[in-house]
Amino acid sequence: MNTPNAEIVVDVAAIRHNVRRLREWVGPDVQMMTVVKGDGYGHGMLDAARAAVAAGADWLGVATYDEALTLRAHGYTGRLLCWLGVPGQDVVPLVDADVDVTAYSVAELDVIRAAAREAGVPARVQLKIDTGLSRGGATAADWPGLVAAAREAEVAGEVRVTGIWSHLVASDDPGHPANDLQEKAFLDALAIADAAGLQPEVRHLANSAAAVLRPSMRFDLVRCGIASYGLDPAPGVTPAELDLVPAMTARAHLAMVKRIEAGAGVSYGHLWVADAPTTLGLVPAGYADGVPRHGSNVLEIAVAGERHPLRGRVCMDQVVIDLGPESSARAGDLAVLFGPGSQGEPTATEWAEACGTINYEIVTRIGGRFARTVVDSAPEGQA
Ligand SMILES: *Cc1c(COP(=O)(O)O)cnc(C)c1O
Repeated sequence: MNTPNAEIVVDVAAIRHNVRRLREWVGPDVQMMTVVKGDGYGHGMLDAARAAVAAGADWLGVATYDEALTLRAHGYTGRLLCWLGVPGQDVVPLVDADVDVTAYSVAELDVIRAAAREAGVPARVQLKIDTGLSRGGATAADWPGLVAAAREAEVAGEVRVTGIWSHLVASDDPGHPANDLQEKAFLDALAIADAAGLQPEVRHLANSAAAVLRPSMRFDLVRCGIASYGLDPAPGVTPAELDLVPAMTARAHLAMVKRIEAGAGVSYGHLWVADAPTTLGLVPAGYADGVPRHGSNVLEIAVAGERHPLRGRVCMDQVVIDLGPESSARAGDLAVLFGPGSQGEPTATEWAEACGTINYEIVTRIGGRFARTVVDSAPEGQA
């Protein structure tokens, strides 16, 4: 195999450090779920999962049934919640594998009950209440019906209701009025469940931002995704402040370095034209690899610890950076697209801000033809 044009380097020691740090942050009485959906936010689901478990994560969380079954197939036997099935999918393997599945509606609960009868063991079910996001989950109007059906299924021995949860609208904006309203709506939903005789092991509402910013929302468990990977959970809440370390670096080898003269236009449409002679570096990564096309003319990429502006449009396979008139860079040199920021390179958060998106989207979409290399900067036993 050739050296890859471009690679994502994931430091699993950073993930372990972040999970431990988050655990310290929320305290020993709150269970820690590390969310590894979306291929571990682009870091590799299995490597992220192993790192999280090694650092003491009590639960793993994923969206799809397939993600959950993949974790089981690779030997993860701990607590595991998934929350996004669609009608027609087979729930029996999840019940068999002791996965906690989420029910949003009585119809979904009925499918889970049928799966439990087929599996011959009770299904672990968590009920989701929609407290204002208007995405998944039962509305306040449908909640009493879902709770009653779940209790009936529990009495029938078909399910065990292990959790009740909800998801936040604006946890990254602590002053947003939705936060108070959702916390109140969640407490109301819990009271209804309690009155119906449900005794869930875990009640949970908080993602990373709420886990860090709003202690009253931690309840029994927090579901931490983005912060586990060392990225800012909310604007202005930096990894440095929280002592978190970004785990992903995306880098590529310069395919070519060349001089251009004043007046030369760069990349499709000549969105940028040199007003003086300069040196260009050709970076072999483009939108097919998840470099956002919105980054045209605005992103920066570092070479030898110095940031250089991306010039012109992002292409499918490549981008061009301006190394400056005096550059001594050569083809083959490493260009760091983004990383922890400790060696002059931009962070995923800076890339996101430049493109009008969020760091989540940067790390989950980077990939394409990048190779992924896992490193461990602090092998266990030494760290
Ligand atoms: C993705 C997700 C999380 C994790 O959110 P972060 O902001 O990354 O911490 C938590 N809960 C649910 C339901 C999710 O879908």
